[in-house]
Amino acid sequence: MIYGSKENEERLAAAVAESEVFLLDMDGTVYLGDELIGDMKNTLEALRRSGRRIVYCTNNSSKAAKEYEQKLARLGIFGEGDEVYTSGIAAEQYLREFYAGKKVYLVGTEGLKAEFAAAGIPLAEEDAEVAVLAYDTTLTFDKLVKINRLIVEGKPYIATHPDAVCPAKGVFPPDVGSFIELLRCSSGRSPDVVCGKPYTVMGDCIRRRLHLPPRRICMAGDRPHTDIRFANNNGFHGILVLSGETDAALAERTPDRPEAIAKSLNEIVRFL
Ligand SMILES: [Mg+2]
Repeated sequence: MIYGSKENEERLAAAVAESEVFLLDMDGTVYLGDELIGDMKNTLEALRRSGRRIVYCTNNSSKAAKEYEQKLARLGIFGEGDEVYTSGIAAEQYLREFYAGKKVYLVGTEGLKAEFAAAGIPLAEEDAEVAVLAYDTTLTFDKLVKINRLIVEGKPYIATHPDAVCPAKGVFPPDVGSFIELLRCSSGRSPDVVCGKPYTVMGDCIRRRLHLPPRRICMAGDRPHTDIRFANNNGFHGILVLSGETDAALAERTPDRPEAIAKSLNEIVRFL
């Protein structure tokens, strides 16, 4: 797949034509830090005008969906009908479906805890039946001791997403994937389920929520090993954008082959 080739153009056009919902990665895809990529406001407006829905999709479970909505609104790109879907929400949906009513010990931020509670998930400190590991930027030794005990006791163990580090200015800080390694070392166990990109739990949850077959959904993102692997694992259309972590050279050699490549998401406007 060579960027700029006729085949790539055709695939890009087909992905756009067949998709009713666009799952959009955020950082590196619609914005970089606090800056929108190119004429993103108009691109997203054109997507909405064409009748397509936008679901902002992130693995970062340190923030509640509401907090992302506020950021997107501040940037002027949270429009009518748009939604935010985080790996934290996927974990909530998974718990409601497979562990309904079970008491959950959540290693997570206050924002995520409030979101879980609002979703009707009973949170417990001492007598929890399920252990959930999210991106807790307020992690403490006490929380590690508690979740480690539940994991060693053999309780179901769910992690929101697998990312080892979180993209940020300067040195990337440790993310859930690093916490998973720490707990693997102390407990000897890996999570029974990891919800977020690139796995199928979040993909299944999104599909069920949207009531759509996979080929009506397109994932656009800048990371081959999360965004594109997520599209491929779930049978979604997948567009790799070169506006973030991936340049044309990496796009050519990554084993996670994208269906189509775009310089940025703004390119899809031509096909709407
Ligand atoms: Mg990204």
